[in-house]
Amino acid sequence: MKISEMEKEEHVLPGNTTCHSCPSTVVLGTVLKALNENAVLVIPACCTSVYMGSFPNSAIKVPVFNTAFASAAATASGIKASFEL
Ligand code: SF4
Repeated sequence: MKISEMEKEEHVLPGNTTCHSCPSTVVLGTVLKALNENAVLVIPACCTSVYMGSFPNSAIKVPVFNTAFASAAATASGIKASFEL
């Protein structure tokens, strides 16, 4: 997919609490544009789990599961399995 073919809508919203010019928001925003909102994020403890904020004021516009490091893979595989039912 060319970047020019990606949708224009942002899925990581501005005004969040990242450091100025945080590369995490650029990469995550680009990936979510490529996935066209068809994504559920599983985020272990990190800056993203902080800057995304809490509902209803989240900076990320797709469903997010915040997990412990040890359970992130199991959470993601469970979400995938639920989509296959
Ligand atoms: S990943 Fe975290 S520490 Fe690094 S620039 Fe972004 S908000 Fe700041």
